[in-house]
Amino acid sequence: DVVVGVLAVQGDVREHIATIESLGGRAVPVRRAAELAAIDGLILPGGESTTMDKLTRTFGLAGPLRELIAGGLPVYGSCAGMILLSDVIADPATDRNGDPQQTFGGLDMVVRRNAFGRQRESFETDLAFAGLATTGPVPGDDPVRAVFIRAPWVEKVGADVEVLAQVPAAETPQAGPSDGVPGSDQGSAPGGPGADLEPVARIVAVRSGNLLATSFHPEVTGERRVHELFIRMIRGEA
Ligand code: GLN
Repeated sequence: DVVVGVLAVQGDVREHIATIESLGGRAVPVRRAAELAAIDGLILPGGESTTMDKLTRTFGLAGPLRELIAGGLPVYGSCAGMILLSDVIADPATDRNGDPQQTFGGLDMVVRRNAFGRQRESFETDLAFAGLATTGPVPGDDPVRAVFIRAPWVEKVGADVEVLAQVPAAETPQAGPSDGVPGSDQGSAPGGPGADLEPVARIVAVRSGNLLATSFHPEVTGERRVHELFIRMIRGEA
């Protein structure tokens, strides 16, 4: 059967390994480039994208990973992992030399880090999620309990990126009929036409070919259907 690697330089590695194992799959931590040869797919865990970027470059993993992803390796990124799979970060962090953080890329999209606001660093909600597997006890069309922890959202997607889940703006922590932004209820806001309009929803799960990414952490709620979908992607069944 398939072997799922979990990038193990930082982040919630154990939770991903446990979720894959609870599905009967084999999961192995990946710390060195040589270990990439033994895996059929890879999970990039939640954690801190800047740290994972730094450490994978230091350990000589970033280059090989970038090539494998471009070559079609199935990869699932949750939260920080979504950031690492994104081609573009809207607001990259810079290190003390002023160099912006890098990503492995692969997903033709723009991601914004820590996007849901500072008032509440984390929140939970139930989401409709397209294309989930239906072989387990929970039907595929049951909502996913999604936990967001300093989570990114996806701001723009290319034509080949499929949107699997969105959070209605009314359910995001910052939302509300009056959000206190001066002039937000006026027809001609300073930012030009449309500047006073708000998106109706935020994209929080995407797929493009062999790449899957979620802003949230199914691995911490006992939700297994997202990992099941990923295993089916590795097997070529989804
Ligand atoms: N804010 C983190 C980052 O930028 C992601 C948080 C998470 O993975 N829970 O990497």
